[in-house]
Amino acid sequence: MQKTGKITVRGIVQGVGFRPFVYAQARRLGISGSVKNLGSEVEILARGDRFDLFLTEISRGPPLSRIDSVDVTLVRQEIPEGFFILPSGSGSLTGMIPPDIAICDDCISDIFSRGGRYEHYWATSCVNCGPRYSIINTLPYDRERTSMTDFPACPECAKEYRDPGCRRHHAQTIACSICGPELELSDTRGNRVEGLDPLKEAAELLDAGKILAIRGVGGFHLACVEESADELKRRLGRIEQPFAIMVRPDHIDRLAIVSRQEKHQLESQVHPIVVLKKRDPTAHASISNLHTIGCMLPYTGLHHLLFRYLKHPLLIMTSANMPGYPMITGNDQAMGKLNRDVDFFLTHNRKIVNRCDDSVMRDGYIIRLSRGIAPKRTPVNLGTRCILGVGPELNANATLYSNGFAVTSPHVGNVRNPATLDYLQETVSNLKRLLGAAFEVIAHDLHPQFLSTRFAREIASDHGLELVPVQHHRAHIAATTTEPCIGIAIDGVGYGDDGTVWGSEIFSGQVPDLKRVAHLEPVAMPGGDLATRFPERMLYGILPDKKILSLLGNRGWSDIELGVLEQQMVRGFNVMNTTSTGRVLDAVSALLGICRERTYDGEPAMKLESAAVGGRIEEWELGFSTRNGCEQLSSHSLVRQALLQKEAAPDGNERVIRDIAASFQYNLARGIAQLALHAAEREGIHRIALSGGVAYNHAIRETIRREITDYGAECVMNLDYPLGDGCVSFGQCMYAGKLLCLRD
Ligand SMILES: [Zn+2]
Ligand SMILES: [Zn+2]
Repeated sequence: MQKTGKITVRGIVQGVGFRPFVYAQARRLGISGSVKNLGSEVEILARGDRFDLFLTEISRGPPLSRIDSVDVTLVRQEIPEGFFILPSGSGSLTGMIPPDIAICDDCISDIFSRGGRYEHYWATSCVNCGPRYSIINTLPYDRERTSMTDFPACPECAKEYRDPGCRRHHAQTIACSICGPELELSDTRGNRVEGLDPLKEAAELLDAGKILAIRGVGGFHLACVEESADELKRRLGRIEQPFAIMVRPDHIDRLAIVSRQEKHQLESQVHPIVVLKKRDPTAHASISNLHTIGCMLPYTGLHHLLFRYLKHPLLIMTSANMPGYPMITGNDQAMGKLNRDVDFFLTHNRKIVNRCDDSVMRDGYIIRLSRGIAPKRTPVNLGTRCILGVGPELNANATLYSNGFAVTSPHVGNVRNPATLDYLQETVSNLKRLLGAAFEVIAHDLHPQFLSTRFAREIASDHGLELVPVQHHRAHIAATTTEPCIGIAIDGVGYGDDGTVWGSEIFSGQVPDLKRVAHLEPVAMPGGDLATRFPERMLYGILPDKKILSLLGNRGWSDIELGVLEQQMVRGFNVMNTTSTGRVLDAVSALLGICRERTYDGEPAMKLESAAVGGRIEEWELGFSTRNGCEQLSSHSLVRQALLQKEAAPDGNERVIRDIAASFQYNLARGIAQLALHAAEREGIHRIALSGGVAYNHAIRETIRREITDYGAECVMNLDYPLGDGCVSFGQCMYAGKLLCLRD
């Protein structure tokens, strides 16, 4: 029997080839009617005998879509024969745009097929791949609302766009070498390098050791071959920090051990940087002096073509930005800021509307939530009020909750300077515009001095909105689970309820009612932030012992410096207390002579992890005590153990250091797990959530997990959001939402 109905599909249904998909199904099933984008939704009018089957088919959606709901109303309406894609109209914005998607295999073969329209064209894409978030101004998703509006389609592209049989039917990014964005190679004075092919020239320059700024999908990369890595470091003044690399797919197994899961991630539509274990931990030291190396595969036509010409099998590809500042996106900005760091620029003239850094993953966990993943949209029920989470200070992003969905932005960076704060504000207005949502509540970090906290307060007072302060580590747990749990949050630092620096917190309860029940023993940070930069200070803060002073003396500390340090501890002048897990790891890294100055986030602890790989583990005695109703694990007894071991082997070779590092990590992790398990026992809760940046440390995480599962409890971790601070804005929303639901 013939049925006629209006179908509304909500979710991520634009920019994913939904209209051509519906069109193809309608043609196949003899359905008449029309399809159009409306706001962020897709509206379909359909008439036909096989209406129900048609409905089932379209409810599945094309591969890149995420469908939230399909609503059907039967209507009495005359619908002429045939099926049509109609121009977009405005409507509600409940959905979201998809992230940028790595070039698909079909488009790669188009680029390399002789005589085809797309042969050798760097910006080839189709309905199944290519840039999305980075080029979209507003919804509905049509070419005129993207940065492709500057490139009207040529007759051949327009023909494919209209052709229902073509993979580029209604592909808004369709473009070819005749009508699409163009590449340009120029020197540091902005002079165009003459040559037949900018990509070929660029590859020759790279092979010859030159450093290039390359404009990609969501921003600029700095690129060079391995032999030029030291020169790039020298120019950037970044001597220690590892670089990410882009590797020819057939070469990756030679330099790293790639599990099946990791291979799958590398090749997924995200194409993230995956932190892999090196085959030889000491190899490629100029790229990474850790036992790991961050690798990605080519993910745009530009990259594939570049590697076609390049003789080297890999390129260093690091985001072009000053540490902690947003990635550079504009051509003029790049010319202005990078001309002393690079020798040449390979740019294009497609505007980057929304900046998007590369995503980073390790062991299946997200380290940086960005290109290909963000905007990240998660269905959650936090009630009717619209909530903004502005994130913490470091590794920040923003999350907006509205109408049953939390949407998290790409990585913003360290909100410590006006440029990054501007980027956070811009990101918040983007989310607001794309979701058509006006937030009523702002969740922010407890720290009163954070720029993000001040930003939250300003908008709240300007617009009369409610503020919900959320303690940093509670946000970590709220991002992991909202079920009753024992929560472990182990990371660098976060502002605590009592105004001290927290970072190894065990909670019990259910969001938003999370009671702090255990932590590492508070230890002194002599000199405050200086103890973060120079971890030997932290070592003395934990172990204020003559032995440490003489160790530091032997390492070149002057008597005056040592005297000041000693007096600082005696008088408590400029000394903060902290329960940070990261700082304890830093201290042992300093004790073992692995890292004496931190030049990038997490450096001492990451180097300790690398130094510990393959070490022989010894079980040490753990010291527990209880103060103010909280159980504490003694950090100083663990550090003292490490010192004793070191003294026992005075001319400590690499093997001894490795064993001590491995044993220290193991016993610290075991101690933290015990704190949680003691709480689990007391409270009768057998669900243990684990979050925080220290949980990226493979040895520490797996020790904690093993202790928990051996005890018979469940270990819960989040695979959809970062374990580090990239989960905090989402956690802030979850926490505030649950609080409001309880209260209202
Ligand atoms: Zn494609
Ligand atoms: Zn064209």
